Amino acid sequence: MTPTQRRRHSAWSEIPAATWADWRWQLRNRVTTLEALEPLVELTPEEREGIRARRGSFPFAITPYYLSLMEGPDCPVRRQAIPHIDEMQRVPWDMVDPLAEEEHSPVSVLSHRYPDRALLYVTHTCPVYCRHCTRQRKVGDASSAPARSELDAAFDYLARTPSVRDLLISGGDPLSLPDARLDALLARARAIEHIEVLRLCTRNPVTLPQRIDQAFVETLRAHHPVYVSTHFNHPAECTPEAGEALERLADHGFNVGNQMVLLRGINDDPATVEALNRWLVRHRCRPYYMFQCDPVEGTAHLRTPVSAGLRILDALRGQLSGLAIPQFAVDLPGGGGKITLTPDRLVRRAGRALTFRDHQDREFTYVDGAQSENSCAEEGVPRSAHSKPA
Ligand SMILES: *Cc1c(COP(=O)(O)O)cnc(C)c1O
Ligand code: SF4
Repeated sequence: MTPTQRRRHSAWSEIPAATWADWRWQLRNRVTTLEALEPLVELTPEEREGIRARRGSFPFAITPYYLSLMEGPDCPVRRQAIPHIDEMQRVPWDMVDPLAEEEHSPVSVLSHRYPDRALLYVTHTCPVYCRHCTRQRKVGDASSAPARSELDAAFDYLARTPSVRDLLISGGDPLSLPDARLDALLARARAIEHIEVLRLCTRNPVTLPQRIDQAFVETLRAHHPVYVSTHFNHPAECTPEAGEALERLADHGFNVGNQMVLLRGINDDPATVEALNRWLVRHRCRPYYMFQCDPVEGTAHLRTPVSAGLRILDALRGQLSGLAIPQFAVDLPGGGGKITLTPDRLVRRAGRALTFRDHQDREFTYVDGAQSENSCAEEGVPRSAHSKPA
Protein backbone atom coordinates (compact mmCIF):
# COMPACT_ATOMS: atom_id res chain seq x y z
CA MET A 1 0.00 0.00 0.00
CA THR A 2 1.89 3.00 -1.25
CA PRO A 3 0.88 6.59 -0.75
CA THR A 4 -0.92 8.27 -3.58
CA GLN A 5 0.60 10.41 -6.32
CA ARG A 6 -0.61 13.85 -7.44
CA ARG A 7 -3.91 13.33 -9.22
CA ARG A 8 -6.56 15.30 -10.96
CA HIS A 9 -9.90 14.08 -12.29
CA SER A 10 -10.06 14.51 -16.09
CA ALA A 11 -12.98 16.95 -15.70
CA TRP A 12 -10.47 19.48 -14.35
CA SER A 13 -7.45 18.62 -16.51
CA GLU A 14 -7.57 22.00 -18.27
CA ILE A 15 -7.48 24.05 -15.06
CA PRO A 16 -4.15 25.90 -14.71
CA ALA A 17 -1.91 24.58 -11.95
CA ALA A 18 -2.07 27.83 -9.97
CA THR A 19 -5.88 27.75 -10.00
CA TRP A 20 -5.95 24.11 -8.90
CA ALA A 21 -3.60 25.02 -6.04
CA ASP A 22 -5.86 27.89 -4.93
CA TRP A 23 -7.98 26.73 -1.98
CA ARG A 24 -10.62 29.37 -2.72
CA TRP A 25 -11.11 27.88 -6.18
CA GLN A 26 -11.30 24.40 -4.63
CA LEU A 27 -14.01 25.59 -2.21
CA ARG A 28 -15.98 27.41 -4.91
CA ASN A 29 -15.93 24.32 -7.09
CA ARG A 30 -17.01 21.77 -4.52
CA VAL A 31 -19.39 19.09 -5.70
CA THR A 32 -22.53 19.24 -3.58
CA THR A 33 -25.38 17.84 -5.68
CA LEU A 34 -26.28 14.54 -7.27
CA GLU A 35 -26.52 16.29 -10.63
CA ALA A 36 -22.95 17.58 -10.37
CA LEU A 37 -21.58 14.29 -9.07
CA GLU A 38 -23.18 11.93 -11.64
CA PRO A 39 -20.94 12.92 -14.58
CA LEU A 40 -17.79 12.68 -12.44
CA VAL A 41 -18.17 9.36 -10.65
CA GLU A 42 -19.94 6.22 -11.80
CA LEU A 43 -22.27 5.98 -8.82
CA THR A 44 -23.67 2.75 -7.44
CA PRO A 45 -27.46 2.57 -6.89
CA GLU A 46 -26.77 2.54 -3.12
CA GLU A 47 -24.84 5.81 -3.36
CA ARG A 48 -27.47 7.46 -5.54
CA GLU A 49 -30.18 6.41 -3.08
CA GLY A 50 -28.04 7.55 -0.20
CA ILE A 51 -27.73 11.03 -1.67
CA ARG A 52 -31.47 11.26 -2.33
CA ALA A 53 -32.37 9.98 1.13
CA ARG A 54 -29.97 12.39 2.84
CA ARG A 55 -31.29 15.47 1.09
CA GLY A 56 -32.22 18.07 3.69
CA SER A 57 -30.29 16.41 6.53
CA PHE A 58 -26.50 15.91 6.71
CA PRO A 59 -25.37 17.22 3.31
CA PHE A 60 -22.44 16.08 1.24
CA ALA A 61 -19.70 18.24 -0.25
CA ILE A 62 -16.47 17.17 -1.93
CA THR A 63 -13.56 19.33 -3.06
CA PRO A 64 -12.24 18.68 -6.59
CA TYR A 65 -8.93 17.71 -4.97
CA TYR A 66 -10.47 15.05 -2.71
CA LEU A 67 -12.77 13.80 -5.46
CA SER A 68 -9.74 13.27 -7.70
CA LEU A 69 -8.46 10.64 -5.27
CA MET A 70 -11.54 8.45 -5.76
CA GLU A 71 -11.52 5.11 -7.50
CA GLY A 72 -14.04 2.24 -7.60
CA PRO A 73 -17.02 1.77 -5.24
CA ASP A 74 -14.88 0.29 -2.44
CA CYS A 75 -12.45 3.20 -2.56
CA PRO A 76 -11.70 4.44 0.98
CA VAL A 77 -11.93 8.09 -0.08
CA ARG A 78 -15.23 7.53 -1.78
CA ARG A 79 -16.71 5.67 1.17
CA GLN A 80 -15.82 8.53 3.50
CA ALA A 81 -17.34 11.24 1.32
CA ILE A 82 -20.25 9.94 -0.79
CA PRO A 83 -23.49 9.20 1.10
CA HIS A 84 -24.66 5.59 1.06
CA ILE A 85 -28.15 4.24 1.61
CA ASP A 86 -26.83 2.31 4.64
CA GLU A 87 -26.71 5.68 6.44
CA MET A 88 -30.46 5.34 6.80
CA GLN A 89 -30.08 2.16 8.92
CA ARG A 90 -31.12 2.65 12.51
CA VAL A 91 -29.84 0.47 15.34
CA PRO A 92 -31.33 0.78 18.82
CA TRP A 93 -28.23 1.99 20.68
CA ASP A 94 -27.26 4.67 18.18
CA MET A 95 -27.53 8.27 19.29
CA VAL A 96 -27.71 11.70 17.79
CA ASP A 97 -25.28 13.17 20.33
CA PRO A 98 -23.41 10.10 21.66
CA LEU A 99 -20.81 12.06 23.62
CA ALA A 100 -23.46 14.19 25.34
CA GLU A 101 -21.60 17.25 24.16
CA GLU A 102 -24.68 19.39 24.51
CA GLU A 103 -24.99 18.44 28.20
CA HIS A 104 -21.39 19.35 28.90
CA SER A 105 -21.79 22.78 27.41
CA PRO A 106 -21.63 25.50 30.04
CA VAL A 107 -22.29 27.88 27.16
CA SER A 108 -23.66 26.86 23.79
CA VAL A 109 -20.42 26.74 21.77
CA LEU A 110 -18.12 25.31 24.43
CA SER A 111 -17.75 21.75 25.69
CA HIS A 112 -15.97 21.47 29.02
CA ARG A 113 -15.65 17.87 30.18
CA TYR A 114 -12.13 17.68 31.64
CA PRO A 115 -10.86 20.30 34.09
CA ASP A 116 -7.83 21.41 32.07
CA ARG A 117 -9.23 21.29 28.54
CA ALA A 118 -12.17 22.84 26.77
CA LEU A 119 -13.45 22.54 23.25
CA LEU A 120 -14.76 25.57 21.35
CA TYR A 121 -16.94 25.23 18.25
CA VAL A 122 -16.32 28.12 15.90
CA THR A 123 -18.14 27.04 12.72
CA HIS A 124 -20.23 24.17 11.42
CA THR A 125 -18.90 24.02 7.89
CA CYS A 126 -16.15 21.83 6.42
CA PRO A 127 -14.67 21.41 2.92
CA VAL A 128 -15.81 17.76 2.82
CA TYR A 129 -18.51 16.21 5.01
CA CYS A 130 -17.18 12.93 6.38
CA ARG A 131 -19.89 10.31 6.45
CA HIS A 132 -18.69 9.10 9.87
CA CYS A 133 -18.77 12.57 11.48
CA THR A 134 -19.68 12.49 15.18
CA ARG A 135 -21.21 15.96 14.96
CA GLN A 136 -23.38 15.37 11.94
CA ARG A 137 -26.36 16.59 13.98
CA LYS A 138 -24.99 20.09 13.47
CA VAL A 139 -22.18 20.02 10.96
CA GLY A 140 -23.10 21.19 7.48
CA ASP A 141 -25.94 23.33 8.75
CA ALA A 142 -24.76 26.83 7.89
CA SER A 143 -27.74 28.36 9.69
CA SER A 144 -26.43 27.05 13.01
CA ALA A 145 -23.15 28.98 12.80
CA PRO A 146 -22.14 30.30 16.23
CA ALA A 147 -23.34 33.84 16.83
CA ARG A 148 -21.00 36.57 18.01
CA SER A 149 -22.80 36.67 21.37
CA GLU A 150 -22.27 32.93 21.84
CA LEU A 151 -18.54 33.31 21.24
CA ASP A 152 -18.47 36.23 23.67
CA ALA A 153 -20.15 34.07 26.30
CA ALA A 154 -17.63 31.28 25.69
CA PHE A 155 -14.64 33.62 26.09
CA ASP A 156 -16.18 35.09 29.26
CA TYR A 157 -16.51 31.58 30.65
CA LEU A 158 -12.91 30.72 29.71
CA ALA A 159 -11.59 33.91 31.26
CA ARG A 160 -13.20 33.09 34.61
CA THR A 161 -12.30 29.37 34.56
CA PRO A 162 -8.59 29.18 35.44
CA SER A 163 -8.46 25.37 35.36
CA VAL A 164 -8.56 25.50 31.55
CA ARG A 165 -5.03 25.39 30.15
CA ASP A 166 -5.61 23.77 26.79
CA LEU A 167 -8.20 25.16 24.37
CA LEU A 168 -9.29 23.04 21.41
CA ILE A 169 -10.66 25.07 18.54
CA SER A 170 -12.97 22.87 16.56
CA GLY A 171 -16.19 22.86 14.56
CA GLY A 172 -17.01 21.85 11.87
CA ASP A 173 -13.63 22.78 10.59
CA PRO A 174 -12.20 26.02 11.99
CA LEU A 175 -10.17 26.49 8.81
CA SER A 176 -13.45 27.25 7.07
CA LEU A 177 -13.01 30.69 8.63
CA PRO A 178 -10.76 33.26 6.92
CA ASP A 179 -7.23 33.71 8.29
CA ALA A 180 -8.15 37.09 9.79
CA ARG A 181 -11.02 35.56 11.81
CA LEU A 182 -8.80 32.72 13.03
CA ASP A 183 -6.08 35.19 13.90
CA ALA A 184 -8.55 37.21 15.98
CA LEU A 185 -9.92 34.09 17.71
CA LEU A 186 -6.48 32.79 18.62
CA ALA A 187 -5.40 36.24 19.82
CA ARG A 188 -8.47 36.37 22.02
CA ALA A 189 -7.66 32.97 23.52
CA ARG A 190 -4.01 33.97 23.99
CA ALA A 191 -5.10 37.05 25.90
CA ILE A 192 -6.39 34.73 28.64
CA GLU A 193 -3.35 34.15 30.78
CA HIS A 194 -4.12 30.66 32.09
CA ILE A 195 -4.60 29.21 28.60
CA GLU A 196 -1.20 27.73 27.80
CA VAL A 197 -1.82 25.64 24.71
CA LEU A 198 -4.07 26.09 21.69
CA ARG A 199 -5.15 23.25 19.45
CA LEU A 200 -6.64 23.65 16.00
CA CYS A 201 -8.71 20.61 15.04
CA THR A 202 -8.90 20.46 11.27
CA ARG A 203 -9.28 18.01 8.43
CA ASN A 204 -8.11 20.52 5.84
CA PRO A 205 -4.68 18.86 5.43
CA VAL A 206 -6.63 15.81 4.19
CA THR A 207 -9.50 17.26 2.22
CA LEU A 208 -8.12 20.66 1.18
CA PRO A 209 -4.35 20.72 1.79
CA GLN A 210 -4.06 23.86 -0.38
CA ARG A 211 -5.64 25.73 2.56
CA ILE A 212 -2.37 25.35 4.51
CA ASP A 213 -0.66 28.03 2.50
CA GLN A 214 2.16 30.38 3.38
CA ALA A 215 -0.22 33.15 4.53
CA PHE A 216 -1.98 30.76 6.90
CA VAL A 217 1.13 29.49 8.66
CA GLU A 218 2.73 32.92 8.85
CA THR A 219 -0.38 34.48 10.36
CA LEU A 220 -1.12 31.84 12.96
CA ARG A 221 2.40 31.08 14.10
CA ALA A 222 2.17 34.31 16.09
CA HIS A 223 0.05 32.43 18.65
CA HIS A 224 2.38 29.54 19.45
CA PRO A 225 2.29 27.05 21.04
CA VAL A 226 -0.39 25.98 18.58
CA TYR A 227 -0.94 22.27 18.12
CA VAL A 228 -2.83 20.95 15.11
CA SER A 229 -4.99 17.84 15.32
CA THR A 230 -5.77 16.43 11.93
CA HIS A 231 -7.63 13.37 10.70
CA PHE A 232 -6.03 11.15 8.06
CA ASN A 233 -7.68 7.74 7.79
CA HIS A 234 -6.07 5.97 4.86
CA PRO A 235 -2.88 5.92 2.71
CA ALA A 236 -5.05 6.90 -0.29
CA GLU A 237 -5.20 10.35 1.36
CA CYS A 238 -1.41 10.52 1.63
CA THR A 239 -0.64 12.63 -1.42
CA PRO A 240 2.31 14.93 -2.12
CA GLU A 241 -0.01 17.91 -1.55
CA ALA A 242 -1.06 16.59 1.87
CA GLY A 243 2.57 15.90 2.72
CA GLU A 244 3.51 19.47 1.79
CA ALA A 245 0.74 20.80 4.06
CA LEU A 246 2.07 18.78 7.00
CA GLU A 247 5.66 19.84 6.33
CA ARG A 248 4.69 23.49 6.09
CA LEU A 249 2.93 23.28 9.44
CA ALA A 250 5.94 21.58 11.04
CA ASP A 251 8.38 24.05 9.46
CA HIS A 252 6.46 26.89 11.07
CA GLY A 253 6.47 25.37 14.52
CA PHE A 254 3.04 23.74 14.63
CA ASN A 255 3.09 20.40 16.38
CA VAL A 256 0.85 18.12 14.34
CA GLY A 257 -0.97 15.01 15.57
CA ASN A 258 -3.30 12.65 13.76
CA GLN A 259 -6.62 11.30 15.02
CA MET A 260 -7.75 8.48 12.78
CA VAL A 261 -11.12 6.80 13.14
CA LEU A 262 -11.40 3.06 12.58
CA LEU A 263 -13.87 2.42 9.77
CA ARG A 264 -15.12 -0.94 8.61
CA GLY A 265 -13.64 -2.11 5.34
CA ILE A 266 -11.74 1.18 5.03
CA ASN A 267 -8.81 1.06 7.45
CA ASP A 268 -9.53 -1.74 9.92
CA ASP A 269 -6.44 -3.82 9.21
CA PRO A 270 -2.85 -3.59 10.48
CA ALA A 271 -1.23 -3.13 7.04
CA THR A 272 -3.35 -0.06 6.27
CA VAL A 273 -2.73 1.53 9.66
CA GLU A 274 0.97 0.76 9.38
CA ALA A 275 1.30 2.34 5.91
CA LEU A 276 -0.67 5.40 7.00
CA ASN A 277 1.32 5.93 10.17
CA ARG A 278 4.69 5.42 8.52
CA TRP A 279 3.81 8.12 6.02
CA LEU A 280 2.56 10.47 8.75
CA VAL A 281 5.71 10.13 10.85
CA ARG A 282 7.84 10.74 7.77
CA HIS A 283 5.95 14.01 7.34
CA ARG A 284 6.44 14.94 11.01
CA CYS A 285 2.89 14.20 12.06
CA ARG A 286 2.57 12.04 15.15
CA PRO A 287 -0.22 9.42 15.24
CA TYR A 288 -2.06 10.48 18.40
CA TYR A 289 -5.34 8.59 18.62
CA MET A 290 -6.91 5.72 16.77
CA PHE A 291 -10.57 6.15 17.64
CA GLN A 292 -13.34 3.66 17.90
CA CYS A 293 -16.12 5.14 15.72
CA ASP A 294 -18.76 6.78 17.92
CA PRO A 295 -22.28 5.30 17.90
CA VAL A 296 -23.75 8.13 15.87
CA GLU A 297 -26.96 7.50 14.00
CA GLY A 298 -26.15 6.72 10.39
CA THR A 299 -22.70 5.19 10.95
CA ALA A 300 -23.55 1.60 11.99
CA HIS A 301 -22.35 0.26 8.63
CA LEU A 302 -18.95 1.91 9.16
CA ARG A 303 -18.28 0.71 12.69
CA THR A 304 -15.83 -2.03 13.67
CA PRO A 305 -15.80 -4.17 16.82
CA VAL A 306 -13.52 -2.91 19.62
CA SER A 307 -11.56 -6.15 19.21
CA ALA A 308 -10.44 -5.00 15.75
CA GLY A 309 -8.64 -2.00 17.23
CA LEU A 310 -6.96 -4.17 19.87
CA ARG A 311 -5.88 -6.67 17.22
CA ILE A 312 -4.36 -3.86 15.13
CA LEU A 313 -2.43 -2.48 18.10
CA ASP A 314 -1.22 -5.96 18.99
CA ALA A 315 0.06 -6.46 15.44
CA LEU A 316 1.74 -3.06 15.24
CA ARG A 317 3.74 -3.33 18.45
CA GLY A 318 7.12 -4.74 17.56
CA GLN A 319 6.53 -4.10 13.86
CA LEU A 320 6.47 -0.36 13.95
CA SER A 321 8.34 2.43 15.70
CA GLY A 322 6.67 3.59 18.89
CA LEU A 323 6.52 7.01 17.25
CA ALA A 324 4.03 5.59 14.76
CA ILE A 325 1.75 3.84 17.24
CA PRO A 326 -1.26 5.82 18.43
CA GLN A 327 -3.37 5.27 21.51
CA PHE A 328 -6.56 3.36 20.87
CA ALA A 329 -9.37 5.43 22.35
CA VAL A 330 -13.05 4.95 22.91
CA ASP A 331 -15.11 8.02 23.71
CA LEU A 332 -17.69 6.64 26.12
CA PRO A 333 -21.28 7.27 25.09
CA GLY A 334 -23.23 9.47 27.45
CA GLY A 335 -20.33 11.76 28.29
CA GLY A 336 -17.94 9.43 30.13
CA GLY A 337 -15.05 10.85 28.17
CA LYS A 338 -12.20 9.06 26.49
CA ILE A 339 -10.65 5.84 27.71
CA THR A 340 -7.66 4.13 26.12
CA LEU A 341 -7.34 0.39 25.60
CA THR A 342 -4.24 -1.74 25.10
CA PRO A 343 -3.91 -5.43 24.26
CA ASP A 344 -3.61 -7.68 27.29
CA ARG A 345 -0.01 -8.95 27.54
CA LEU A 346 0.14 -10.33 31.07
CA VAL A 347 -0.04 -14.11 30.85
CA ARG A 348 0.34 -15.06 34.51
CA ARG A 349 1.72 -13.96 37.84
CA ALA A 350 3.56 -16.02 40.46
CA GLY A 351 4.53 -13.91 43.45
CA ARG A 352 6.64 -11.12 42.04
CA ALA A 353 7.24 -12.97 38.76
CA LEU A 354 5.10 -11.50 36.04
CA THR A 355 5.00 -13.36 32.75
CA PHE A 356 4.17 -11.39 29.63
CA ARG A 357 3.91 -12.37 25.98
CA ASP A 358 5.81 -10.32 23.39
CA HIS A 359 4.68 -9.33 19.91
CA GLN A 360 5.63 -12.79 18.61
CA ASP A 361 3.68 -14.52 21.38
CA ARG A 362 6.86 -15.67 23.13
CA GLU A 363 6.73 -15.53 26.92
CA PHE A 364 9.10 -13.55 29.11
CA THR A 365 9.19 -13.09 32.85
CA TYR A 366 9.83 -9.85 34.61
CA VAL A 367 10.49 -9.93 38.37
CA ASP A 368 8.59 -7.08 39.82
CA GLY A 369 10.15 -4.42 42.02
CA ALA A 370 9.53 -4.54 45.74
CA GLN A 371 6.97 -2.25 47.33
CA SER A 372 8.46 0.70 49.13
CA GLU A 373 7.01 2.72 51.97
CA ASN A 374 6.03 5.63 49.81
CA SER A 375 5.36 3.63 46.64
CA CYS A 376 2.30 4.77 44.80
CA ALA A 377 1.86 1.27 43.32
CA GLU A 378 -1.07 -0.73 44.53
CA GLU A 379 -0.62 -4.34 45.59
CA GLY A 380 -1.81 -6.69 42.92
CA VAL A 381 -1.71 -7.41 39.26
CA PRO A 382 -0.93 -4.52 36.95
CA ARG A 383 -3.94 -4.03 34.83
CA SER A 384 -2.40 -4.50 31.42
CA ALA A 385 -5.70 -3.77 29.71
CA HIS A 386 -5.87 -0.62 31.75
CA SER A 387 -8.09 2.31 31.18
CA LYS A 388 -7.18 5.76 32.23
CA PRO A 389 -9.01 8.99 31.73
CA ALA A 390 -7.72 10.76 28.63
C1 LIG B 1 -11.41 14.80 23.16
C2 LIG B 1 -11.77 15.94 23.94
C3 LIG B 1 -10.78 16.78 24.48
C4 LIG B 1 -9.30 16.54 24.26
O1 LIG B 1 -8.87 15.37 24.84
P1 LIG B 1 -7.35 14.90 24.73
O2 LIG B 1 -7.38 13.49 25.22
O3 LIG B 1 -6.55 15.82 25.58
O4 LIG B 1 -6.95 15.00 23.29
C5 LIG B 1 -11.19 17.85 25.24
N1 LIG B 1 -12.49 18.11 25.47
C6 LIG B 1 -13.47 17.31 24.97
C7 LIG B 1 -14.88 17.65 25.27
C8 LIG B 1 -13.14 16.21 24.19
O5 LIG B 1 -14.10 15.44 23.69
S1 SF4 C 1 -14.06 17.50 8.93
FE1 SF4 C 1 -14.50 16.86 11.03
S2 SF4 C 1 -16.30 18.08 11.64
FE2 SF4 C 1 -16.13 18.18 9.39
S3 SF4 C 1 -17.44 16.51 8.66
FE3 SF4 C 1 -15.34 15.68 8.80
S4 SF4 C 1 -15.28 14.74 10.85
FE4 SF4 C 1 -17.06 16.14 10.82
